[in-house]
Amino acid sequence: MSYAAFQQRLGVVNDLLNASSVLVWDSRTVMPPGGVASRGQQIATLTVLARQALIADDTRRLVDAAERELAGEPADSPGRRAVEHTRAAIAHHARIPESLERRRAELRTQAQAAWIEARRNSDFGRFAPALTETVDLSRQLADAIGYEAHPYDALVSVFEPGETVATLDALFAALRAGLRPLLQRVAAATPPRIDFLDRDYPEDRQRAFGLRIAERFGYDLSRGRLDASAHPFEVSFTRDDVRITTAYNRRNVATALGGIMHETGHGLYEQNIDPAYTRTALATDLIGLYAVGGTSFGAHESQSRLWESRVGRSRRFWELHYPELQAAFPDSLGDVEADEFHRAFNNVQAGPIRIQADELTYDFHVMLRVEIERALVDNSLKVSDLPEAWNATMLRDLGVRVPDDRRGVLQDIHWSIGYIGSFCSYTVGNVMAAQLYDAALTRDATIAPGLQTGDYAPLRAWLTTAVHRHGRRFSRDELLLQATGKTLDPSHYIEALQRKYGELYGV
Ligand code: ZN
Repeated sequence: MSYAAFQQRLGVVNDLLNASSVLVWDSRTVMPPGGVASRGQQIATLTVLARQALIADDTRRLVDAAERELAGEPADSPGRRAVEHTRAAIAHHARIPESLERRRAELRTQAQAAWIEARRNSDFGRFAPALTETVDLSRQLADAIGYEAHPYDALVSVFEPGETVATLDALFAALRAGLRPLLQRVAAATPPRIDFLDRDYPEDRQRAFGLRIAERFGYDLSRGRLDASAHPFEVSFTRDDVRITTAYNRRNVATALGGIMHETGHGLYEQNIDPAYTRTALATDLIGLYAVGGTSFGAHESQSRLWESRVGRSRRFWELHYPELQAAFPDSLGDVEADEFHRAFNNVQAGPIRIQADELTYDFHVMLRVEIERALVDNSLKVSDLPEAWNATMLRDLGVRVPDDRRGVLQDIHWSIGYIGSFCSYTVGNVMAAQLYDAALTRDATIAPGLQTGDYAPLRAWLTTAVHRHGRRFSRDELLLQATGKTLDPSHYIEALQRKYGELYGV
């Protein structure tokens, strides 16, 4: 009885956050530009209402009563975990002063407007004051949340619980040691032919092909849809409405396809969460106040990267499906072999832009951002010195000269919306994807033959059992331990890249 009342309250919190997500989807797909300011207020209002409903005194009483009712259940039962997450989230929000929350919300709108203008004119000075205050508020937030070793640890914990400066240092050192020599060998090798990527690819045919791939991976269109947006994304309003988008480029067939594969992976996670968790704490990020079933940002990214990088960019995938792509674009791909397309789709080319980066250079973009964020947070780097530090690190790590701040320090939206501490999740996702993929192939003998014939159902089913269905019941490392026998381990990822690019480039 008490537990039912608790669930009902969490259902209200989840409804408000899902409604907010619908407004976000709309703003990024079809909303006219004039709607920006009032939409920002509408989303902020729903988020505030969700927070109030969560931390209200009677919610705390419902948590206490539910906890008493479930005392006889195992500690990791869905009900007890839902209560535990809710209690932890209430404690988290109680530590953050309301004045700080309010100022962060106000600043988000101002900072985003400043960033858009700064980026348009490649004028870092226009964004610097807002960024300075964002860093200052992030430091206050870290102090409010609390930390042991480094203030950045507190900020990271909001996005990727379990990671700290110390764990990330170890992870990044392993990646640098494993990837840098490989990248140098690839850079010195003969590049693949890519001229045919820049030809005419009508969007409706790109969309039709991409949708068929999404469905083959297992994306359920009766609970999903594909739209166009400036940047690809996935968002869900419970498991019964999970939407993806991609960005089309008529002169490059690889862009939209990569986006669809990636977002399909995110979509599969949300579509396959246990239906019993709908509208509960196990399908809601109560700390970030976001209606999402995936257990961490990195765990979510592991699913997108697994389908995009390990499956969709594999040689076998293109041997199987290239004829269909070629048939859709006979004029542009008539003179291109499957093998040539596969090579072009995996072309390694260091450049200044993170979201355009290939698999081998991507993590260096992430490591740069993490390095810079923690230096800003611990005051060892001043905002005014940021463009210089950014450009120097790009040159050091990737040999890339950043042409201007628009394509350098101003390229990402994250800092303008107050997300400091989130970037590591992309690399955590890459690493986790390779680890899960190896475990899947080892633990289920039907998966490899499926991949050989284009039957992706066994892999999807394994991932649902190991990851998707649990929603937020288990932490990322609990999932990894159950599914692979160990916590995050970069060796699978490094070996996968060494194998793949060693073969592709003959190095
Ligand atoms: Zn993603």
